[in-house]
Amino acid sequence: MYFSGFCRPLTYYTLFVMNTKKSSKTSTPDVVLIGAGIMSATLGVLLKKLNPAITISIFERLDRVTAESSDAWNNAGTGHSAFCELNYTPQLPDGSVETKKAVKIAESFEVSKEFWAHLVETGVIESPATFIYNIPHMSFVWGNENVDYLHKRYTALTSHHLFRGMEYTEDQEEIRSWIPLVMKGRDKNEKVAATRMQLGTDVNFGTLTRAMFNYLEEQEGVELHLNHEVDDLTRKKDGSWMIEVKERDSRASRYVQTKFVFIGAGGGSLPLLEKSRIPEGKGFGGFPVSGQWLVCNKPEIIEKHQAKVYGKASVGSPPMSVPHLDTRMIDGQKALLFGPYAGFSTKFLKNGSYLDLPLSIKLNNIKPMLAAGIHNIPLTKYLIDQVRQSPEDRVEALRDYLPDAKLEDWDLLKAGQRVQVIKKDEKEGGVLEFGTEMVTAADGSLAALLGASPGASTSVSIMLELIARCFPEAKSAEWQNEFKKMIPSYGQSLAKNEELAAKTRAWTTDVLHLNTSHLEAELTA
Ligand SMILES: Cc1cc2nc3c(=O)[nH]c(=O)nc-3n(C[C@H](O)[C@H](O)[C@H](O)COP(=O)(O)OP(=O)(O)OC[C@H]3O[C@@H](n4cnc5c(N)ncnc54)[C@H](O)[C@@H]3O)c2cc1C
Repeated sequence: MYFSGFCRPLTYYTLFVMNTKKSSKTSTPDVVLIGAGIMSATLGVLLKKLNPAITISIFERLDRVTAESSDAWNNAGTGHSAFCELNYTPQLPDGSVETKKAVKIAESFEVSKEFWAHLVETGVIESPATFIYNIPHMSFVWGNENVDYLHKRYTALTSHHLFRGMEYTEDQEEIRSWIPLVMKGRDKNEKVAATRMQLGTDVNFGTLTRAMFNYLEEQEGVELHLNHEVDDLTRKKDGSWMIEVKERDSRASRYVQTKFVFIGAGGGSLPLLEKSRIPEGKGFGGFPVSGQWLVCNKPEIIEKHQAKVYGKASVGSPPMSVPHLDTRMIDGQKALLFGPYAGFSTKFLKNGSYLDLPLSIKLNNIKPMLAAGIHNIPLTKYLIDQVRQSPEDRVEALRDYLPDAKLEDWDLLKAGQRVQVIKKDEKEGGVLEFGTEMVTAADGSLAALLGASPGASTSVSIMLELIARCFPEAKSAEWQNEFKKMIPSYGQSLAKNEELAAKTRAWTTDVLHLNTSHLEAELTA
């Protein structure tokens, strides 16, 4: 075996030289994107529009783009605007409802819609109906305490212009007219309440991502390599990165040198960040949470429901496991999903390996990981309970939302895998986070994205932030102009500027063919 070890550098060198000879352009691209999900797609399109001469190589370990979290059946397709997701508006110890996070998410989604509207207007996306639909977003709760919370949430949110147009009711008949199936078979004396926001959306992040990769593939200087897994990355003395990529069938290695690398590998980002050995990446760990949906197989039921209905998470459950009953539009077909049911698997990717979690444990993250584990025993217990659920138990949970649900009308489907971020913490030793964490090298030559929430909906704001941190050209007048062409509100705050928000919303609603009637009424009110 010592012999093969001795040969390795020589073999790599030969392959690199061969590759350099074959295509000198692709072996030293300006930018390398690892992973072909929505984050890499968004960053690639933004960079190519900012600088048409830029060269980009994209490496994806699977045989097609967007086969992990960004694909339609692997996520819930909610255009997260914080209209209905109760975990974005926590109740504070004094009883009031905190709206800061909700406003930020609502604003980020408006920015995403601006960029997507630009892609439609410039022909990158053929038709908005391929990826975005207007589906009302509703919150639905029962019991005095929850009804009181929802009313407080409604009052707090509607004082902000981004949430204007939200409706609230405790009247069973009115709720029945909004979501008849949810009210069918329900006790007439039950205390219930609901909010509705007509401007909600369902997004097929899979088709959106594919459209962006189709565009990128047509551009000069962009290469997409499927079936290519990034295995290692090393910083060179001159500050550039040498990236080792393996062709998955032949296991042949190739080397690519670049000035900037984005680790957009979803659940696969943590192991690659560890391999980069940048000091900023030390101490991070990951906690994988898998998911499953119940998918309705009865067209008569699917037809009768037209909303995304989010409820309240049960005590001890993680925020991303808030149950919801979702109308989806996937490849032109209407669907109905309920879930997600959480679970535990040591895989970091749906198509990953059971060794992912054990191999991610290093000396520099073992302490935060153990501390996070000790502080999150209720979560572990919750996940064990979820894994143990029988089909009947799952339908019982669904009956909270659809009292008449029958087991035979629903099929179980595996959703995408999320890896929650574990971070060092001075006080606690380590904490488990449910948001997204962008890690960048101090010299801006590498960025990695960890975590999964609010995810794809806020991909544009996240990638704008990445560009601001890693590309000094972002400040130039040329790039600033390009930003404004793609995102007209760029540099201004939609959360603070009501008039700009109304104008922007009216434009995106029109270009993305979302329902405008209620918006017009609001604008003239
Ligand atoms: C159950 C669930 C529900 C969700 N619901 C919503 C929702 O309703 N709304 C919302 O906005 N977001 C939602 N999300 C989050 C959203 O799906 C993700 O934030 C988003 O898709 C992440 O995109 P990404 O590009 O970072 O990762 P991914 O789409 O996972 O792409 C990463 C890619 O990297 C590849 N890869 C990994 N390792 C390597 C390697 N070493 N070399 C080369 N390639 C590699 C993978 O194969 C994959 O194709 C949900 C997620 C889950 C799991």
